[in-house]
Amino acid sequence: MSLNPTPGLPEFEYIKPASLDEASRFLAAHPDTARPFLGGTDTFVRMRDGVWKDRYLVDVKHLAGMDDLVFNPQTGLTIGAAVNMNRVIRSDVVNQHYPLLAQAAQTVAGYQLRTRATIVGNVCNASPAGDTIGACLALNGRLRVFGAGKTREEPLSSFFIGPGKTTLQKGDIVTAVSFPAPPPNAVGQYIKLNRNNMGDLSIVGVTVFGYPDGDTASGYRFRLALASVAPVPLVPAAAEAILARQPITEETIAQAAQAAMDAASPISDTRGSAEYRKMMVRNLTAKGITAVWRKLNA
Ligand SMILES: Cc1cc2nc3c(=O)[nH]c(=O)nc-3n(C[C@H](O)[C@H](O)[C@H](O)COP(=O)(O)OP(=O)(O)OC[C@H]3O[C@@H](n4cnc5c(N)ncnc54)[C@H](O)[C@@H]3O)c2cc1C
Repeated sequence: MSLNPTPGLPEFEYIKPASLDEASRFLAAHPDTARPFLGGTDTFVRMRDGVWKDRYLVDVKHLAGMDDLVFNPQTGLTIGAAVNMNRVIRSDVVNQHYPLLAQAAQTVAGYQLRTRATIVGNVCNASPAGDTIGACLALNGRLRVFGAGKTREEPLSSFFIGPGKTTLQKGDIVTAVSFPAPPPNAVGQYIKLNRNNMGDLSIVGVTVFGYPDGDTASGYRFRLALASVAPVPLVPAAAEAILARQPITEETIAQAAQAAMDAASPISDTRGSAEYRKMMVRNLTAKGITAVWRKLNA
């Protein structure tokens, strides 16, 4: 990747469609030159750096439903695509029923950036380092997508197909992310290892979410997600399976942490070496499961 030698935003056309249908049609008609944006915190940086060269930026923030944040005890939580992270962090219903999401959002950059950055933008950007993606996966998130004239739902579990790559098609616009009502007595923890606390991306991120579950041999279900250690946000299924089938002991936690480490395939970059990342996956997964286990038994 070569950076733009004369940083500054290139010329582009700002498009403000009147409806979702108009936005979607415009994007579909300009498949290689137009992209939707929300807070723009990834989009404008990539444009400035010359990595993205779109001619049209399609603002979708103002469209119907994008600003909704709605909780229903039966059906769960819906967060409109344009809801910024600070609003998620401040939300009483999020803090009461989905505190893991607020905790993860709180680790993203600083306050100013979070007044623009959105959860849906974090998800659609599909960086393996996206800090809120693990919580969205662990909480069984689904995207509401408008495309080709109709609305559909996409589970996040199959949404990520590579760094920056998702199952979205040209003309698709994500309008919201939704989560089912959380299982009773569920607790979670996001651990972000980074070089500083001033908004750095993670070297490793570990999400742990656990709850009592009568259908597993251990009596508990744990959902795990790892950031910055694979081409996509990674769910270490073998580690989850160990925690479902064996009584939760120190030995079980160590085995699950080892399985998480085995699943990771990190690269070395300026933030950390592959070897270091792998070891930290094991250590932080053990730490996260232990923290959640203590909260479950508090
Ligand atoms: C200084 C700085 C610090 C940062 N620190 C962090 C950090 O600590 N952790 C972290 O995870 N991220 C970090 N980021 C990255 C960024 O802020 C997040 O990924 C943010 O959540 C993106 O949200 P957004 O609304 O700004 O997305 P946008 O930039 O608007 O969009 C991001 C991507 O999603 C696509 N998209 C947007 N809306 C839609 C839609 N409705 N339907 C389909 N596709 C859509 C866009 O085309 C683009 O590809 C940082 C960025 C900066 C500039």
